[in-house]
Amino acid sequence: MRFEKDIIFYINNYLVEKIGNCIKLASPNEASGYVLGNIQEINNKGDFNYNYFSSSFQCIESAKGSEISFFLDNEQKMLELQEHLIKNENLKLIAILHSHPSGTTPSSTDKHYMKHYHNSGFKNFAHLIWIIVDSQNKDMNGFVYLSNKLTQIKLIVGNY
Ligand SMILES: [Zn+2]
Repeated sequence: MRFEKDIIFYINNYLVEKIGNCIKLASPNEASGYVLGNIQEINNKGDFNYNYFSSSFQCIESAKGSEISFFLDNEQKMLELQEHLIKNENLKLIAILHSHPSGTTPSSTDKHYMKHYHNSGFKNFAHLIWIIVDSQNKDMNGFVYLSNKLTQIKLIVGNY
């Protein structure tokens, strides 16, 4: 898989705890949620770097759980959420997170949604990050579609 070192996604430790609780709540189903924050663009003489700073995590509680598709199928809802966040909290939806029973490799369903949103024509979703968490050991990895290619990004967990 392609790796993009110029995109760095920072996850604060306190969000890791919230994500862990979300996984517990959803168990035995897959957990999912939104990561909100801001994106900083750095221009080094035409060489662009992007830093994604996460500041909040919203666990999605669903009676059905498991299927990430239950909310991703509704583009209109996603757009409304995005508008609401920007207007009321001055935050952006910067990532969609979900858990896997083990491992952090995107499934074919995940790839389908990533590609779909990348090509949806909605500017806001073109560079949405997709984070997958291993339910067992809480490892996480971030992915993005860039130039129509599935790309892994750098994800850093710590105190910021
Ligand atoms: Zn998945």
